[in-house]
Amino acid sequence: METKLHFIDGQFVPSADGATFEKRSPLDNQPLYNIAKGGKAEIERATRAAREALRGEWGKMPQAKRSEMLHAVADAITRRFDEFVAAEEADTGQPRHVISHAFVPRGAANFKVFADVVKNVPTESFRMDTLDSRGAVNYAVRKPKGVIGVISPWNAPFLLMTWKVAPALACGNTVVVKPSEETPATAMLLGEIMNEVGIPPGVYNVVNGFGPDSAGEYLTRDDNVDAITFTGETGTGAAIMKAAADGIRDVSFELGGKNAGIVFADATFDDAVEGIFRSAFMNTGQVCLGTERVYVERPIFDKFVEALKAKCEAVKYGRPGDAGANYGPLISQEHKTKVMSYYQKAVEEGATVVTGGGVPEMEAALKDGAWVQPTIWTNLPETATVVREEIFGPCCHIRPFDEEDEVITLANANRYGLSTTVWTNDLARAHRVADEIEVGITWINSWFLRDLRTAFGGSKQSGIGREGGVHSLEFYSELRNVCIKL
Ligand code: NAD
Repeated sequence: METKLHFIDGQFVPSADGATFEKRSPLDNQPLYNIAKGGKAEIERATRAAREALRGEWGKMPQAKRSEMLHAVADAITRRFDEFVAAEEADTGQPRHVISHAFVPRGAANFKVFADVVKNVPTESFRMDTLDSRGAVNYAVRKPKGVIGVISPWNAPFLLMTWKVAPALACGNTVVVKPSEETPATAMLLGEIMNEVGIPPGVYNVVNGFGPDSAGEYLTRDDNVDAITFTGETGTGAAIMKAAADGIRDVSFELGGKNAGIVFADATFDDAVEGIFRSAFMNTGQVCLGTERVYVERPIFDKFVEALKAKCEAVKYGRPGDAGANYGPLISQEHKTKVMSYYQKAVEEGATVVTGGGVPEMEAALKDGAWVQPTIWTNLPETATVVREEIFGPCCHIRPFDEEDEVITLANANRYGLSTTVWTNDLARAHRVADEIEVGITWINSWFLRDLRTAFGGSKQSGIGREGGVHSLEFYSELRNVCIKL
């Protein structure tokens, strides 16, 4: 069986102690490959290489040349597109159309967008005239922050990892990536691409392993790391923040969500049903921006629940490439156990199970995979566990509402504040609701539509900071002021 190694200083290397762990397929729970299990030694080796690379060719490279190289990275990803799609399919088991239309192209786009953003954002300059008639001139120069630790999750691995690596490199930093232990494949392929296009060794490093007391935690405690960018669970964010505090390392966090979908009676009905269906069940519900709480205006409530139920019951389970398959497994047996415990909890707390709630009948070859049914509940109070906590599975609770103010209060009554999707044809109402909902992004009559130049991040416990466009530059670089007395 193949062993995926680490990528350090431009080379694929095993762990010093030879330790490995096993990756199993979400589709059938069969072993897929082994992964080198990194620890303190590998992290120190990678962060030293990243520090050295800052002092070398990469650190001295003109911005224009760096941007050119990142365009070459994007082009090489596009050239080897099918390999990236196959690697992500094997790791996540998700339908081919999701990976090849939404996730892998976004990886290439991330490199292109930030290679250009960094060239086009001005820095400030102030003429100071308080001293005397000649005064002074101040101008800012943008400098890389240094070595960036990138810790990423498994749910859209390539998209989410490159969303951080691309702007970090565009700003002239070097990176050490700790991909999710569930999905290292595309991060390793990207190492090959970096060598192929001539990115100097040490600029992009990957250390595989786990979180606590493993590669992840050691990365957050390493003295050679200047800043940490993390996407994952809110609880993990809290642990990373504590570790980063010791070295006063800057952090940027994209964390969990328990997002509300709001459907007003004046919405275009079929569009709203399709939009909520996608937002709740795409990627088997494993999307941070996904909808797990749905609020529907009372006059259309029953009809809406029926229509969403019909869509759930029509999903086609299957392998990524199976004809017509549009619904994959969860990422792992461990995650399946977690999601199933929520399915059980919902019933214990009195939910009406509109559809799903269990494990589907699968063909013999797939019966050991991490399959669960898309699930809809109604009739739970807002205090119920599955209405409050992020499940990160293919499920949602639907509740009727009567008033605009009421639904805004309901949507905001949660510790998370990542995103909302609102369905209405009343423009004034759309603006009013968007203004009041406490989230980083509100979609009106849409979902998952992203302009990479815009600010992205979470309110409340869904994150710290914003990335995207110029906001990424603010995290991945430092402005230094130069003051010249005239
Ligand atoms: P996770 O927090 O369990 O793991 C994420 C990464 O952190 C993994 O690489 C893991 O190994 C590492 N890690 C775990 N403990 C660590 C520690 N103590 N120190 C350092 N690293 C550690 O998250 P997950 O289960 O992989 O992903 C799902 C979560 O990610 C959900 O909560 C989801 O909402 C969130 N998410 C958020 C966004 C966003 O943009 N806000 C996007 C995608 C996913």
